[in-house]
This record gives sequence, C-alpha cells and structure tokens, in this order.
Amino acid sequence: MQRYFIEKKQINNNIITITGDDVHHIKTVMRMRINEKVLVCDEEKTYLCSILNITNTVEVEILETLDDNVEMDINVTVAHGLVRREKMEEVVRRLVELGCYSYIPVNMTRSVVKHKEINIERLNKIIKEASEQSQRNKLMKISEVINFNDLLKMIDSYDLVLFAHTLYKDQVNLFTEIKNKCKNILVIVGPEGGFDDKEVEKLIKYSNLKPVSLGKRILRTETAPLYIMSVLGFLGEQYDN
Ligand code: SAM
Repeated sequence: MQRYFIEKKQINNNIITITGDDVHHIKTVMRMRINEKVLVCDEEKTYLCSILNITNTVEVEILETLDDNVEMDINVTVAHGLVRREKMEEVVRRLVELGCYSYIPVNMTRSVVKHKEINIERLNKIIKEASEQSQRNKLMKISEVINFNDLLKMIDSYDLVLFAHTLYKDQVNLFTEIKNKCKNILVIVGPEGGFDDKEVEKLIKYSNLKPVSLGKRILRTETAPLYIMSVLGFLGEQYDN
C-alpha cells in the first residue's frame, strides 16, 4: 500500500491533510479515488487511512494506528567523503532502502566535488521518496556538508566508529563488534581518492574508532557505504533471527 510521510501538524483529530508533491502523486501518478486506502506516517506512528476528499490537498481519515516498526535497532550514520551529485543521490537512495539512520557528506582533502554542487533540498526529496517506497517509519537524516575537522568533533558521541580504510592490516571483526550491542555507530568512508595521510593520522587517535576491511577488493566510494550497511543489516537483523 502506498505510504506518505507527513508532519504531526498536518493531523487534526482523526483527519490528516496531505499537501505538496504527495497530492500530485496521489491524484496523477496513482490516480487514487475517494475511499481508497493509504498509509500515512508521522515518523512516530503509522496510520491506515481512507481518502475522504481530493482537491488541491488530500484529506484522509485515520481508520487505525498500526504497529509496524521496520527500523534497525542500531542507528548507523554514514560519514562519506564528498562524491559527485549523481553518485551521491544514488548512494542516498540505496542507504535509505538499507535502513541507514543518517548521512553526513564530508569535505575531505581528496574530495574533487565542491560544496555548492550538493543540493540538500533535492537529496531530502529523494530520501522521502525512497522512504515511502521502502516502507520505512523514519526519514533518514541528512546534514549539510561539513568539514573534516567538524567530523572529528563528532566522533566521541558514537559508541563505535567503523573506519573503512583500504590500507589497514589490523582491522576489527565486524561480527564481534556488532554483537557488543552498540546503539550508535558511525561509518567513515573516503572519497574517490581515499583518505589523505594526515586525515588517517587524526582519525586513528580515537579509542572508539576501529579500522575495518570491506573485503580484499577495492570498492568504489559509492559501493563502500552500501556494502557496510548491508553487512550491518545482515548481522544486526537477519543473523539474529
Ligand atoms: N586508492 C584509494 C585507497 O586505497 O584508499 C581508493 C579509495 S576507494 C575508491 C574509496 C573509499 O572506499 C576508501 O577510502 C574506503 O573508505 C572505502 N573502501 C573501498 N574499498 C575498501 C576495502 N576493501 N576496505 C576498506 N575500505 C574500502
């Protein structure tokens, strides 16, 4: 069933008013009619609703509040060296599907892309679309582009930081780390050219940071976050079941 994200302020008693691009989607793309059912989510609860009225907004009536949490137990944040716009859009879309909690684009020494090429508003639209498609309960968060030094300031606030670096020999075992039941994990992935030596020197000083291997082959920067998110999803969800 089609899902739409709304803000709490759009709920009035048991009526929800859907506005913006979702109205076009309901009317023109899905060609929905009065009484058809949709799922509406305010990031806390999901409501099964019936369409009451379609004009330049869509009014729906709440029929039932559902208990449908598909979010991961761990919050995984991916800090990613800046990549080209189209690549970033694709990475963001896939990370939403894989259950990622938050994405932070980081300007690193070897990033070839400029800040101003990144359109956060467009990325937020992609996140909303992908979250609706993958039936998530929460929208993945995305921050403005930050500098490498700002990333360093955040590291202490995570239980575990997985540093994906191709040149490390003594990497940790992801399986063991995830079994330690961390709640907030930060994953750091370099840009196309990888990390600069000074960045590596600064990162490895943090005691909660563990260098990890993503296998024997070198992955593209747009593949690496998806690989690690899939492994974390498997270890945290599938393997536990
Ligand atoms: N020549 C660069 C290097 O060796 O660092 C290649 C960078 S790779 C295209 C981009 C990023 O993906 C890396 O900085 C790292 O974060 C991640 N990555 C790719 N393959 C990896 C692997 N096998 N193990 C760990 N990290 C990997």
